[in-house]
Amino acid sequence: MPGIVIVATAEGQGTNPAALELLGGGAGLAKALGCPLEAVLVSGSGTDPAGPAAKLFAGGARRVYSVRHERLGNGSPEAALEALTAACRRAEPRVVLFSADRLGLEVAPRLAHRLGGSMITDAVALEVRDGDVVATRPAFGGKAMEQVAARATPQVVTVKLRALEPAALDESRSGELVEVPVDLDPGVDRVKLVERVEEAAEGPKLETARVVIGGGRGVGGAENFKQLEELARVLGAALGASRAAVDEGWVPASWQIGQTGKAIASDLYIAVGISGASQHTAGISGVKTIVAINTDPEAPIFERAHLGVVGDHKAVVPALTARLKELLGK
Ligand SMILES: Cc1cc2nc3c(=O)[nH]c(=O)nc-3n(C[C@H](O)[C@H](O)[C@H](O)COP(=O)(O)OP(=O)(O)OC[C@H]3O[C@@H](n4cnc5c(N)ncnc54)[C@H](O)[C@@H]3O)c2cc1C
Repeated sequence: MPGIVIVATAEGQGTNPAALELLGGGAGLAKALGCPLEAVLVSGSGTDPAGPAAKLFAGGARRVYSVRHERLGNGSPEAALEALTAACRRAEPRVVLFSADRLGLEVAPRLAHRLGGSMITDAVALEVRDGDVVATRPAFGGKAMEQVAARATPQVVTVKLRALEPAALDESRSGELVEVPVDLDPGVDRVKLVERVEEAAEGPKLETARVVIGGGRGVGGAENFKQLEELARVLGAALGASRAAVDEGWVPASWQIGQTGKAIASDLYIAVGISGASQHTAGISGVKTIVAINTDPEAPIFERAHLGVVGDHKAVVPALTARLKELLGK
């Protein structure tokens, strides 16, 4: 019976963290449709799929289709497309769930086309209505949310990071591991990975952090970001910024949140000295609670914020940090 298939990548003895979120969301769909929940595991040739597959079984997958090849470890989208096409032809899924990460962005639409299915991007919630899978996704740069159903199967859906509740792990669960042989011709590569540069980063990653502090032009200079760093340290938060702060050269470009930066989906986002331009708020539509600190009571960020402080960050942020240190005993 066509089931729900989630796409996972092997990371050491486990999988990418988003795989558990996809299993969590996929389980709800599988239950409502009365169909199996399965996974495709993508890994390089040196990986033993047994460990990552065990994690996927523990997370609720009944069957794991493993595609393994040396070229799947080097980030080639063409190789991943070939391998996933082979795995999906074997699994014949009704729905394929990808995380909206680099693999999902590059490969999911091409896979949907190959399989003659349909495509929904950037889902933040999934449900079944009258037998259709319905996805909620941001529209108009996050100003509105829309609900869309795609009817041609398989329905390929990319899901934003941290949008779905991860599946609870039950190590007693097991399942069937199916090796899908893949023969990947290097001639299919249209993209060549020239160099991979790991960003030197401490603390939580912006895209997956539970708490994010963002600084804008109103922070007033690179030196003033030290205050935000202290607040981030106390809250265990990641630091982000508006494009204006990046353009000023105060912080690295990798901190940028927004339409042309990163999308965050934290439980809490504290926007400091950020006006709330639509290009910035396009990156925070997945945030659960937004707090804004801004001197201008008319700043558009207050229309999006759940809590707001009208005031100078130089007074508000140190006071907030000091009080949080007291409360959290740090
Ligand atoms: C194609 C395109 C793509 C873009 N993509 C992005 C993107 O991905 N991300 C992004 O962020 N922007 C993006 N932008 C830029 C965006 O339009 C805004 O210009 C930018 O977000 C503004 O940054 P800001 O809010 O930090 O600065 P400003 O708009 O200058 O706002 C600064 C705020 O700080 C407040 N302030 C001043 N002093 C203080 C103080 N002492 N204490 C507290 N508050 C204070 C002010 O009241 C003001 O609201 C894009 C623009 C274009 C055209």
